[in-house]
Amino acid sequence: MITSTTLHHEHAGRGKLTVIRGCMFAGKTAMLIERLRAAEAAGRRVVAVKHALDARYASDCLATHDSRRFPARAVDAPEALVPLADGVDVVGVDEAQFFGVGLVEVVERLRRCGCDVVVAGIDHDAWGQDFPPLPLLARVADEDVVRTVPCTRCGRPARFSERVTPVVGEDLVGGPGDYRPRCAACFQPLPAPGPTYEG
Ligand SMILES: [Zn+2]
Repeated sequence: MITSTTLHHEHAGRGKLTVIRGCMFAGKTAMLIERLRAAEAAGRRVVAVKHALDARYASDCLATHDSRRFPARAVDAPEALVPLADGVDVVGVDEAQFFGVGLVEVVERLRRCGCDVVVAGIDHDAWGQDFPPLPLLARVADEDVVRTVPCTRCGRPARFSERVTPVVGEDLVGGPGDYRPRCAACFQPLPAPGPTYEG
């Protein structure tokens, strides 16, 4: 196992955690890209990471629904972030829900090494449950940004992603066409029981 002592940073002190969360189509990835570009413009060393499962638009970059892009490394487990963060000032993580609860410990490890971390992802699953690790990370974040987009039924702020196509097999990921943003009043969850998350 790689320990935090293998990370080398010129600055001391605990890194800042920014969480960008919300439903699908709420502009989370766009905001993450903005933050990472701003950090680069300020001369900071940045690495962006996405989960290998999230290759919907491109495997080598973060990509928004409207084609904004930022170079990214695809990894398949939270622990794989640690070596990528070596010598880096800011780590960006997109679609953090793919990484599960294990991301929390890794983010804390990076922060202890002085690394700033910006994490974006969905915070409710299609059953309306808390979708880890976003709600857990939000509790320990320095900055917690909750993004909304108008509900496609009534126009009120949407906090949920409603699955509007059948789930086939185990593939719950789906694509943009499989979900609609919904407010709490309009949201129709998938039939219970939803998945149980570890931790
Ligand atoms: Zn609504």
